[in-house]
Amino acid sequence: MNCPNHHKIFTARKRSYRELPMRLAEHGQVYRYEDSGAISGLLRVRGMCINDAHIYCTKEQIAGECASVLEMHKRVYAILGLGDYRVRFSMRDDGEAAKSKYVDDPAAWNESQEILKHALEASGLPFYVGVGEGAFYGPKIDFQFRTVSGREETASTLQLDFAIPKRLGLSYVGADGAEHCPYVIHRAPLGTHERFVALPSSTSAAPSPPGSRPCKRGCSPSRKRTATTGGRSSAPFAHVAFAPRSTTARRASASAFATHPCAKYRTSSSSVSVSRPKVRSP
Ligand SMILES: [Zn+2]
Repeated sequence: MNCPNHHKIFTARKRSYRELPMRLAEHGQVYRYEDSGAISGLLRVRGMCINDAHIYCTKEQIAGECASVLEMHKRVYAILGLGDYRVRFSMRDDGEAAKSKYVDDPAAWNESQEILKHALEASGLPFYVGVGEGAFYGPKIDFQFRTVSGREETASTLQLDFAIPKRLGLSYVGADGAEHCPYVIHRAPLGTHERFVALPSSTSAAPSPPGSRPCKRGCSPSRKRTATTGGRSSAPFAHVAFAPRSTTARRASASAFATHPCAKYRTSSSSVSVSRPKVRSP
């Protein structure tokens, strides 16, 4: 699990303010036991790979680090041609009923929300406020995409965490020689790889060419032969999206893989296999 793992690396030895900001990143495999009814294609799965990073910094460094991360988000979406998203500034709900959902430190909440909001305003990104959408440990900035079925999904996020470092005893030695607790920025511009692969095909009703669609061969829990993605039929590409069973369909699938951009696939009339280099014995 990414967050605790990075925190353990941070606490592995004494840290100095000179080491901050410290940025640790990884593509980590994580799991979430979603209800079976909540699982949806590659958009919501139980096992996922997340491009997570944690930035350990001082209060003064938060604004600069957030600005860099937001710039990275914009660059990633521009490269992938994803422009149809909304930015949500997610804060806590001050109501009595929601109090148990959040770390009970109103002063830290107000300060963190103020810092993050300023960073978001400085980025020039238009945003809306989501009251009650914050993480339990701090406010966040979410990038929201709407799928063709009308459902809004958070594709990626930037979170400012003022609480967990304190609870886990993270500290660094400041310029004054005293121990201080760092802030942590959790950032994942691609969110989970699975959801990000699904997004281009889920946010547009137009059918995409077979080679650019995610191949679900052998991964789908569904035994249905008719493929649907995000509520729309993808029958013309069913031989690519799902593993078919009839001989005719298997041949069609093999021929589709033959033209797949991944040239390493070798096809036969009834199966698809990965060609491996021959290893000579010494
Ligand atoms: Zn994290």
